[in-house]
Amino acid sequence: MEIDIQLTAAPFPWRCPPPSGASHGAWVEFRGIVRGEEKGAPIAALDYEAYVPMAEREMRRIIEEIAQRQPCLAVHVIHRIGTVLAGEPAVYVGIAGRHRMEAFAFLDEFMVRLKQDVPIWKQRALTSAQLRKAKLGRTEGGAPTGRRSRPATTRGVPKAAPPAAAAEVLALLRQLCRPLKPERVPLADALGRVLRKTARAPEDQPAFDRSSVDGYAVRLVDSTSAFRIVDEIRAGDWKPRALRQGQAVRIATGAAAPSEDLRVVMKEDAEVRGDTLTLLRREAHRNLRFRGEDARLGQELIAAGTVLQPGSLALLASLGCAEPLVTRLPRVLHLATGNELVSPDQKPGRGQIRDSNSTLVRAFLAPRGIAPLQRRVTEDQASVKAELDRARLEFDLLLISGGASVGDHDFTRGLLEEAGFAIHVSKTTARPGKPLIVARRGRTLAFGLPGNPLAHYVCLNLFVSTALDAWAGRPDPGLFHTGTLAADLTGADPARETFWPAEWRLEQGQVALTPLPWRSSGDLTSLAKANALIRVAPGTKGLARGCQIEFARAERIA
Ligand code: AMP
Ligand code: MG
Repeated sequence: MEIDIQLTAAPFPWRCPPPSGASHGAWVEFRGIVRGEEKGAPIAALDYEAYVPMAEREMRRIIEEIAQRQPCLAVHVIHRIGTVLAGEPAVYVGIAGRHRMEAFAFLDEFMVRLKQDVPIWKQRALTSAQLRKAKLGRTEGGAPTGRRSRPATTRGVPKAAPPAAAAEVLALLRQLCRPLKPERVPLADALGRVLRKTARAPEDQPAFDRSSVDGYAVRLVDSTSAFRIVDEIRAGDWKPRALRQGQAVRIATGAAAPSEDLRVVMKEDAEVRGDTLTLLRREAHRNLRFRGEDARLGQELIAAGTVLQPGSLALLASLGCAEPLVTRLPRVLHLATGNELVSPDQKPGRGQIRDSNSTLVRAFLAPRGIAPLQRRVTEDQASVKAELDRARLEFDLLLISGGASVGDHDFTRGLLEEAGFAIHVSKTTARPGKPLIVARRGRTLAFGLPGNPLAHYVCLNLFVSTALDAWAGRPDPGLFHTGTLAADLTGADPARETFWPAEWRLEQGQVALTPLPWRSSGDLTSLAKANALIRVAPGTKGLARGCQIEFARAERIA
């Protein structure tokens, strides 16, 4: 079978010739055109972003997989990257088959998988004004800022995939992990979950005029000096009645006012003898919470996408939303590999160490309400495979600690490939964290995490947390924040982007970050204080105290 894949920044021709040779009876062509509107608004162009080597590799894999079921003779794919104008084709697929039905079926399946599995994504839609500005930026300064420069055209299969930069892995994960399905859960289980349906006021809030003090309700305009108390209304009572001049009703905080046009005189401003009330002071304030003053019927109160906090849960409870619709939690299987590992309650023998990564993973997931299924397995492919088979449940996320490197006993990659996972990342340039694997099979995402504890910590807090956020449907506020360096940072590796463990705290209202000492990615002691990762750009040996730096916050309990 002939496969030709091109990712190109240049517009491609409208006419693409069929493959030569006479054995195909059908040449089915598809062009996906950029529409002039997105979400109902007119647009001038779409910006496509791709991680090129991964996208090519994944397309080839999908084509070979479909071809096993739908035989075909040639597949030719061209996908635009960069800015594609409305009306231009963004994707072209030509399929040669013996018969038309095979080619149609192939095309149909390929397009579904292309959208679902291939790391090419619509980065943004551009209006005419934005397009003009982008063009200007390009002619003045080459590639527009914020975009990586890419090869204009790449053809064929890439050689061994280069290590992916952290930013590429993050972009890939945001692309691969779309919000999981929503489910209804009781309020008691909804803390920290992402609301999927905007909560609106089902009626005015409050739903009736309520007294805000303990006191006496009298008519709004009533100059009487001695009132007669004619009734008592307690919180929870419903006793509507009209008050006449000179009448008062004893009323408790939160109780429903008996009618409109009243004021409540505070208990402290009144003197009562028997059922006669004398006002000591006439206050301007009416001491009522009026119907609808907090929110009007139908008013938006909590937007979809909000992470539910104690306060928002209290509001939902008051609205009667006892089972909010929230994103379901991912099911996580964690396998800790390594013959050297014993559990924390055991005394390690010579050459052995205690397994700390299992504790780290469980604690990392706990604030998100995720309880992983965890197993410790020996370092051979067969036993890990057996564990995967035994855990027949469907998992969304598979974390394998250790064995992600290229040593003789590092088997994670082979195992994942054998189990039908597509490898998207096989290492990263991020330090610590080099032997990182990101793979996917259907809806299951797998991470091969470096066994070294510090690298483990970095990969969990950068990459796994990004996948979890994207799955949860949390709005993407950006992983990195800005703070001030509280001490010099020395010893960074200029060759690689480093994520340096640090402790952040507030100093006079400003975020101050203290870099923590570490020598190797196997070091654990800095984790006792770490709650952040400082991003040290490649090419940097050190950073001076007082400079502004980017950092990611690490998962922690408030
Ligand atoms: P690996 O990624 O399997 O090559 O392991 C790299 C280093 O991390 C080795 O020194 C391992 O002993 C160590 N390591 C692997 N798994 C764990 C674990 N669960 N807890 C603590 N250290 C680990
Ligand atoms: Mg190992």
